[in-house]
Order: sequence, then structure tokens, then C-alpha cells
Amino acid sequence: MGEDTCLIPKCEGLTPLEQALSSPNFHYYEHMRALMCSYLPKEAVALIDRTFFVADFAHREQKRASGEPYIIHPIAVATVIVQMHLDVESVQAALLHDVVEDTFITSDMLEQEFGPTVNEIVDGVTKLDKLRFHDYKEAQMENFRKMILAMTKDIRVILIKLADRTHNMRTLGALRPDKRVRIAKETLDVFVPIANRLGISDIRAELEELCMASIYPMRYRVLKAAVTRARNNRKEVVSSIQEAIKARLKEAKIEGRVLGREKRIFSIYKKMVHKELQFREIMDVYGFRIILKDVDTCYRVLGQMHNLFKPRPNGFKDYIAIPKLNGYQSLHTSLIGPHGVPIEIQIRTELMDQMAARGVAAHWAYKENGSKAVSTASQKNAQDWIKNLIDLQQSAGSSLEFVEDVKTDLFPDSIFVFTPDGMIYNLPKGATPVDFAYALHTDIGNHCIGARVNHHAFPLSRSLISGQTVEIITSPTASPNAIWLSTVVTSRARSSIRQYLKGLRSQECQLIGRRLLQNALRSQKLDNLSEETIQSILVNFKEPDLNALYSDIAMGNILTVAVAKFLDPNTHNHHELPIKGTGGLPFIFAQCCMPIPGDEIIAHIAQGRGIVIHTKNCKNLRQSDLGPGKSLNVSWNYTITANMDFKTGLQIEIENRQGIVSEISNAIDLASSRIESINSDLKDEKTFRIELVIAVRDRLHLASVIKHLRKVPNILSIHRRK
Ligand code: MN
Repeated sequence: MGEDTCLIPKCEGLTPLEQALSSPNFHYYEHMRALMCSYLPKEAVALIDRTFFVADFAHREQKRASGEPYIIHPIAVATVIVQMHLDVESVQAALLHDVVEDTFITSDMLEQEFGPTVNEIVDGVTKLDKLRFHDYKEAQMENFRKMILAMTKDIRVILIKLADRTHNMRTLGALRPDKRVRIAKETLDVFVPIANRLGISDIRAELEELCMASIYPMRYRVLKAAVTRARNNRKEVVSSIQEAIKARLKEAKIEGRVLGREKRIFSIYKKMVHKELQFREIMDVYGFRIILKDVDTCYRVLGQMHNLFKPRPNGFKDYIAIPKLNGYQSLHTSLIGPHGVPIEIQIRTELMDQMAARGVAAHWAYKENGSKAVSTASQKNAQDWIKNLIDLQQSAGSSLEFVEDVKTDLFPDSIFVFTPDGMIYNLPKGATPVDFAYALHTDIGNHCIGARVNHHAFPLSRSLISGQTVEIITSPTASPNAIWLSTVVTSRARSSIRQYLKGLRSQECQLIGRRLLQNALRSQKLDNLSEETIQSILVNFKEPDLNALYSDIAMGNILTVAVAKFLDPNTHNHHELPIKGTGGLPFIFAQCCMPIPGDEIIAHIAQGRGIVIHTKNCKNLRQSDLGPGKSLNVSWNYTITANMDFKTGLQIEIENRQGIVSEISNAIDLASSRIESINSDLKDEKTFRIELVIAVRDRLHLASVIKHLRKVPNILSIHRRK
């Protein structure tokens, strides 16, 4: 191969358009280019011209299964992205989505040429492509979809993957029939629900049609022919009803668009199967959509329609007040038209109509003045989307629990890993191979000696991440190691290990305890301790003899660090940690009192949970929790905490009114804090109780957050959670 195969040509002296024009494949790109010129500024188009040139150059040797040049695939994917009016980086990443996997171009080269964001999106798409899509059972499918979302920090990755799948489905014809059906089924099981979850109904509907045509080609053809015939017969009725609606709007001096709505073949099919309706019963319904300028007008037009045609009892749904889970909003009403024809009308605003078609994708749309902000923090965009959903739900006055649902999909607290034969396990974040082994079976946990992750050796103490395939190596003679107690995160693993240790003959227990203590002491040798020192330890920890002390250490009744610290108060003080005095052992902050710098704190040695930092006045701490061996005096390491955020809980009571949740979230933004989680319930008819977890630097920062919150009208009270 020549030298040009491992470098991207610089093309100095040529404009990006001239570079693009130099490609023999430019004519494939022309249509998409015209589309994006309609909404993207010149500089953005220039960037994409250069991107096209690079993608085309990289794929120049490859052909599609159909024999056409490969570049038509990335162009088609990017065209779907352009049709959604997404931002520049999305379009660039779509053009480049296959280059790292299939060509000489590396991730580093991409980052050099197009910057980190485009590279990260391409990397995300490449990772998704590597997932194996088995024929999972229904129970596994939900996990699988969640895992895909969990692996995706930037929703644009999913949008490109959906566009990629759309083009692959459009061109399935070139494949063998069995392969066609397999891909279509996988699309219906995995990608259609994801598109639906994200509210992108344009893509969802197209994928459904294509899937049905592949899986049930005969039924699809028969239905399609029947639908075409019926549509021709219906034309006159449709236009007369449409005219009647238009005339009524004109009379009431309301401006709006009235569209006739044709049902998709797949949705007719679904109704026939699930609701056992006859084809005629479905096709006999005449569907219309009225698009208006604001919400008020929607309700006014609803009144007009109920006056024009007779409404059916129970035929009305208000998805404006109570949106669907994916944010969909509209009014739906069923009416009886002239000569008894059934009519369905959807009434919504322009914005709701766009959201219904593009869902979350609408948030990556290129915006005239906001393009910088849009492209900088994709994470923030996802949060905005959630905030938007919170507001929708808020104006509906219903519970916020579903927000948690959406949130865990996008910012999950769990990871999803595979067994070697493709089963998916859901574990909490931070889980290690030992947790995984115990999740499989207690015996596997008890006999595990090592792990392989994606075919490579992997330490038993390291945290797993989503998408990994984990293989546990066992040996019949192996047994649990007390050291695991400090790294496992699942209670199942922890209690199984303890169970095992309790069953040990006391001598083994003593040996383990002794080893744990020696490890904690490091340089100081246990054998060299004076009789005096030993006696003082035994008195302090209320133990009759050393062996009893060792046993209690092994069982986790006494933490080694407490003993080590008693012996030498300076035992490896880890100054890089935010808390001084834990002896470098892992600790967590209590979820009850959620201490932040400035609070007086104490470390409680919780049985089975390691060191937990509480505030000194935490109500969950009893006097008996504070005895020797049960607690440590600790303090904040302020030089470290100055650069950190800490979670803490607030309880707010509000008078329910439109938009108040977004004002609360704005106030928190203004105080440079952020919401980590939000929960709410109805206290009484008018009062909401909101539980917030926010991130702050210290007590001062918290005070400033509260000050900002007090300015929001209709807040009744604000308390720190105790
Ligand atoms: Mn592709």
C-alpha cells in the first residue's frame, strides 16, 4: 500500500467545497448538502464538506453488498440526521461513524482532525456496534435496552445508531431472507422500543413499517393493497370533513393547519392483532390533525370540534395536561361525523408536533444563536430534556416518580454485564467480579480464584463496567478471602463471605484476623509489640485475649484500622482523602444525614458496611454505636474538600403551581449547584413535598443555595434533610 493509505490528505490551498467536489462520489452527497444548507450556517457546511471528503477518502476502496460505493451508506445515515435538523457534530459523526471500525483512520486521527466531541460520538457508535445481539427472551430485552442507554453518555450516539439502523433496514433487500428476518426482529425488539422511549416517532414508525415488510412480507403486501384501495374510496369523505373543519376555524377566526392523517400499515396490523378489530373497523375511522399556535387555542378548538361533530362518550384524552411517558403531548378526541362516520382528531401546537416527531432529537437541533452551547455539553442537554419532562409533568400536577425512571435510564446507578454465554446481569455501580460471582451462585462466589473480562485476566477487586463479558475462574479447593469484604458492594456477596468466615474453625479465623491486622500496621511488626501494649489493646477493645481479638477482626466486628490507629495514631494518614483519620480505609458518606464540609462529623464502623461518615448529631447514631472499635474521630481535610462537591439532602414544601419545579432548578443553577436527584409526593391537595439531593462544596455554599431558593415564590419551607 502506498503512503497515502495511512494519512488524511491535508489539501492545503483547496476550500472544503473544492475538496468535496474533487471526489467522484460528490453527486451522492449533493442532495444531503442542499438539505443542510437550508438550516446550517456557512461555516458549519464547510466543516461538513471537509468531513465528507475525509470519510469518502477513507472508504474509497470499499463497496456495499449491492456493489455501490460504500460512502452512500454514511451519506444516507447523515441525511437522516440532517432531516432531524441536528447539530454539526452529529452530522460529522454520522458521516464518520464507520471509519474507525472499517478503515485505516484511528480514533486519535479523528480527534486531531475533528476534535474530541466528534471522536467521542464515533467511539460510542463503534462500541454499540460491537455488542452482540442475541435472541434474548423478553425478560432480558428490557435489560438489554437499558444497557444500551447506560453505555451512552451522549444521546447523539443513539440517534446515529437509529439512523444507521434505518438505512440498513431500507437496504435489507440485498441480504439473504433468513438474515433479513433476523435483523428485522432485532430491530423490532431493540431499536423500535428505544426510538419510542426517546419519543422519536418518525424513526420509530419507519422502522416498524420496514420490519413488518421483512418479517411478514405476505401480510404486509395484502394489507398495503387493501389500504391503497380504501384510501382511494375515502378521498371524497376526507376532503369534505377537512373542509368543514377549516371552515369552522375560519369562522372562529383561528389560524391553524388541518391535515388528513393516514394510518401506517404496521399500526393497522397491530390493532387487528391486539384489539381483534376487523380491517374495515380500523380503516373506517377518519383521522385528522389540527396544528395551532398555542395551548389555549388547542382547548378552544377542541370546544369548536365538539360543537361541530358529536363527541363519543369516553372518547377524549388530554395528553397536554398529562403527557405520555416519553413527553408526547396532544389532545385526542373521537367524534361522530356526517352520516355517522367515526372521526378522530388530534389537536396540538407546532412545538408539540415537532416534539412528537423528533422527541429527544429536537434538543440537538441546530439553534441559530445557541449552537456553541448546544455542542459543548451534551450531558447538560440530556438533563435539560429531563427538566423539560419534569415541567410537563409538573404542569399536569401528577407525581414525579416517572422522572426517576427516565433519569435512571440516562444516568444509571447500575451496570450491565454478560456471562460468557450472553446472559445479562444487572449489578450496582462499583460491583467487582466477586459480586458477579456471588450473583451467579453462592458456590461460584465461594470458590472463585480469578476472573477474565473480555478474555483478559482481571483483578477480583476492580470495578466492572457496562458491556463487559465476565468469566469467573473457580477452583474446588478455593475459599473466600476476608479481604474481599473491603471491595464488594452487593449485600449478597458480603453476607455470603461473612457466613463463610463464621463457619471457619476458629484457628483459621484467627490467622485471617492476624493477617488483616498485620497488613494494616504495615511497618510495625505484631511480634514486636510489648506485653504492655498488648494488654492496653485488649482492655480498650474489651477482648479476653489476642486470639479473640483476631477472630473479631476477621468477622468484621472490629475494624483493623481501629486497632492500628489505637497503636499508632499516625498510621498511614492519607492526606489526599477528603476525610482525615480513617487510616486510608475506604469510607462512604451516610445517606441519612449526608454530611458536607463544615459539619461536625464522626466515623461509624458499621458492621458489614465498612466506615460510614455521619454528622455528629445524626439521629440514626445511638450511644452504643460510639464505643471503642465502633467509631473513629475524624475531621475534614479542607485542602482537599475545597475542590470537591458533596451530596446533601433538602426537603422543600411548595404550593403546587405551573412551572415551580423549573424555577427551583433555575435557582439551584444560579447558586452554581446542581440537582442530583429529585423526588416528590403530594402532602395534601395543594402542597407538594419535594426531596432534593444537590451537590455543594460546603455549608457556606449550601447557605447560598438556600438563599436563592427562598426567592422562589410559593415555597413554604426549606429544610436540610436530617
Ligand atoms: Mn453503519
